[in-house]
Amino acid sequence: MLDILGGEHASASQEHIARGVHYFSPLQHLWEVQIAQRFCEQPKYLPVFISCNQPEGACHVAPCQSQQHTSAPQLKDEIIESGHGDKCRLEDSRQCGRCEKCVFVYTLLSAHAPAAVKEAFNDECLFEVEELLPIFKALCGLAQKPMECVGTPEEMRLSLLLAREQRRRIGQTYLPPVFEMLHDSIDSAQELLWMFDDVGPNSLIPGSWKNSD
Ligand SMILES: [Zn+2]
Repeated sequence: MLDILGGEHASASQEHIARGVHYFSPLQHLWEVQIAQRFCEQPKYLPVFISCNQPEGACHVAPCQSQQHTSAPQLKDEIIESGHGDKCRLEDSRQCGRCEKCVFVYTLLSAHAPAAVKEAFNDECLFEVEELLPIFKALCGLAQKPMECVGTPEEMRLSLLLAREQRRRIGQTYLPPVFEMLHDSIDSAQELLWMFDDVGPNSLIPGSWKNSD
């Protein structure tokens, strides 16, 4: 669950920095699996989002024309300063499909919208990429947790469980090795389904905002 701002921080900022300003995050009280579930309910955003530590993209604006950018994630049409000091555009910026963040996000989203997510990741099923097996293992808590901004091993295991069920639901008989390798961790994730209904008590969301549609 995101823990960016506690209640103490909010009250301190109102007392010492700006009275009347209510500082909050609408996602703070949710688990990452809940955020992924809600995001998948808005499929039009799946092709344009990026959550990757080394996004790839071809720059089409002269004189940069760099073929491989490794900058902060950018949405289409967003203008950034290139490493050459010139303005360039990451029109085809996309996930690398090889970093820890890509594996984590791919797994969480595949629990709900596997086909659309695969398309968003260059039409590649990350579950079938053997070189990613150590990352899957680490994200499930069976090796040193990556020093990356990713969620908990429990969320990873729960999402793998649901992703496996998605494959079975559509009649896919082939299960990639990652599901066999993590079989025990995935099966025991049945007891984690409560995470989808769990809401943190201290969301700091103003009452007027909560009640509006
Ligand atoms: Zn990546």
